[in-house]
Amino acid sequence: MTYSSESNYSILQDKTATGKKRDWKGKKVRSSLMSSHYEGLEKRIGAPYYGKKAEKISNCAECLTFKREKETGRLKLYQAYFCKVRLCPMCAWRRSLKIAYHNKLIVEEANKQYKPAWIFLTLTVKNVEGDQLKQTITDMMQGYRKLFQYKKVKTGTLGFFRALEITKNHKENTYHPHFHVLIPVKRNYFGKSYIKQAEWTSFWKKAMKLDYTPIVHVQRVKGKKGIDAEAIEKEVREAMEEQKAILEISKYPVKDTDVIRGNEVTEENLDTVYYLDDALSARRLIGYGGILKDIHKKLNLTDAEDGDLVRIEEDDDEVANETFEVMARWHVGIKNYIIT
Ligand SMILES: [Zn+2]
Repeated sequence: MTYSSESNYSILQDKTATGKKRDWKGKKVRSSLMSSHYEGLEKRIGAPYYGKKAEKISNCAECLTFKREKETGRLKLYQAYFCKVRLCPMCAWRRSLKIAYHNKLIVEEANKQYKPAWIFLTLTVKNVEGDQLKQTITDMMQGYRKLFQYKKVKTGTLGFFRALEITKNHKENTYHPHFHVLIPVKRNYFGKSYIKQAEWTSFWKKAMKLDYTPIVHVQRVKGKKGIDAEAIEKEVREAMEEQKAILEISKYPVKDTDVIRGNEVTEENLDTVYYLDDALSARRLIGYGGILKDIHKKLNLTDAEDGDLVRIEEDDDEVANETFEVMARWHVGIKNYIIT
């Protein structure tokens, strides 16, 4: 079933290959709420900047055109307008799908070419007040660059995928920006190139010029032992688990539920949107380095942050011959996508 009839209209139903519902409606509802917050900020601050963003977001994914595969009945997004505002929940969702897909390809290719081991690194600083958030992130970006210039880090690692995440402590009204970093390392990293957790911590402290000891987590993605015959099945399973763990950190930063709490425009939500907008606008939230950057380039992957959000999987742009179009339009009253 591609769509179901209710009264005299049909509601969009889009499912993945595994039958999971794609929640277009839910994302659009959250985007509309985000748009209302930008409107609220325009009223509060009086700057047209916020009104313009409100309008952009409210126009996001108003109309979706899909191609339907005749054989499987599955829908494939073919045309849509996405606003690309950093805090738009609809766009954040599309980006996270795209980043996850890219990372899957990149990790597969890196495994094939370099057979690296993988480690996860989490770099944090103390929570900050809203008005310090922007500067703190700027400092962290600089600190990060410095960190990867330290000799031991440079020689011990093969590259990185970095994602900035910001969570909020609602009780204390503070923000917690931190980096999730996925790092391929040579297999012999665990020998003499090994960087202990305490070293990562002191490198980060030094790079950030902090007067306190920051919390730094480091973890090997998967401990692979030497191959013996009967472990092959286990190997495969472990490789899959490793991949899953890797994709876990591809999730796009700021979850929208963490930005706006509840379903209404509130003063606290307006503050959150104000500070996050200020801190994140026109900023790159993800980055690749070393071999991962090279592979990203070699695979000709487009920009997941500012690029096309319609086509997620870039290789299959030619749609099967036997398709027809399905068009769905957002209906403000019904609060759902209606097939037109
Ligand atoms: Zn959008």
